[in-house]
Amino acid sequence: MIKKFSLRICILIAIFSLTVSAQTPRDLHRIWDETHISNIDPSRVRHADLKRYLDRLQSAGVRIEEAGRSGGGREIYQMEFGNGPFRVFLWSQMHGDEPTATSALIDLFHYLQTNRAEPWVVELARKLTIRAVPMLNPDGAELFQRRNLQFIDINRDARSLVTPEGRLLKKLRDEWAPEVGFNLHNQNVRTAVGETGKQATISLLAVAYDEYRNDNPGRIRSKKICAVIHEALSPFIYGHIAKYDDTFNPRAFGDLISLWGTPVVLIETGALQGKSEMDLVQLNFVALAWALKGLADGGVEQANPAVYDNLRYNQGGQIFTMVLRNAGIVNRYRQGEVAVPPFVADIGINRDGGRGRESIQDIGDLGGFHGLEEFDASDFFVTVAAGELRTGAEAALLFYRKSRAERIDWYASDLVTAHPPDATYRNGQWTGSDRPVRIR
Ligand SMILES: [Zn+2]
Repeated sequence: MIKKFSLRICILIAIFSLTVSAQTPRDLHRIWDETHISNIDPSRVRHADLKRYLDRLQSAGVRIEEAGRSGGGREIYQMEFGNGPFRVFLWSQMHGDEPTATSALIDLFHYLQTNRAEPWVVELARKLTIRAVPMLNPDGAELFQRRNLQFIDINRDARSLVTPEGRLLKKLRDEWAPEVGFNLHNQNVRTAVGETGKQATISLLAVAYDEYRNDNPGRIRSKKICAVIHEALSPFIYGHIAKYDDTFNPRAFGDLISLWGTPVVLIETGALQGKSEMDLVQLNFVALAWALKGLADGGVEQANPAVYDNLRYNQGGQIFTMVLRNAGIVNRYRQGEVAVPPFVADIGINRDGGRGRESIQDIGDLGGFHGLEEFDASDFFVTVAAGELRTGAEAALLFYRKSRAERIDWYASDLVTAHPPDATYRNGQWTGSDRPVRIR
């Protein structure tokens, strides 16, 4: 009897948890886990993958149309959900190598369409009509590059309109005159939140419509949307949310679209050490869904724009890909009789782009700076196999235990053969088991 009873309770709990609505951002976070259909890392999603996703959305009933073509002849799609009077327009990946939000939009439209009976989705569909262009720059996405096939930055083409993709974006905006726009991007993984040294995982911008960065009702609403997004993401990435530079840029789409009458919210996704690309898709899903819910149910109207105003600005140059602390540096500089004796300093290393090479960015006292990874190199001499260990050089490093140092001829022409190192490091890869200890 007791067993039967507890089984019934379990079933009831299971049913209840399956039908629980999106009352909190945590609910949306779980909903994404249970319902997302994007299944490849966003940076590997190509146009053919997008079409596969969209086929699935279309068979679920999402309204999808080909809105235009890229310079390379690839279809650019627009999808639509809801029947309400308030028009919301979102576009992603105008920079081809900034893909996170494309997958989030797919998961969001799929969820909305297949959960149309959910009370909050009913409300959303009654109040809003949502249109979204996922992957505005499919040619750039195919090559995983920022620019289109003209090698123009579409986000600096809002004034000239030389790019087919930029012209299409303007046309879609002008024909529909949406009340709010969302411009969805990615930013450098080394961007920090102010002086905190914390990675800016999400940066928000209530886009200015003039060079004086004035407030008007539209910009105040954008600030409230940013406050709602901050509320949505704080349970997951508190302290990792920043404010994007709000200087008015007369060539950029977000700025001109705001000027043309559709106030724009910019969302820039950075990274969080230890979190995957798919984790970032999940955060985008939560942010967008909570913002749309807030537009439909009054949550945005009641939000406090000061939450946005009080965010710290993005800051570059504070975070390195890797920092080696207190390394014994043998830089192998020698001109005639002049050579640099070994010295102790920190080394800051940066990777250029997502999969680029790593180079030495700084040497010296890097106290106050942060590495996504940091190592204590105090027991080692560090040098390079060829050339000099200097700023700008590739970070292809050799590590020697200090206890071995007296027997090493640092200027041997083939150092690696003459004196095999205890460890090596290059492009994120370590060899050798006797290596500096990771401290962060
Ligand atoms: Zn961008």
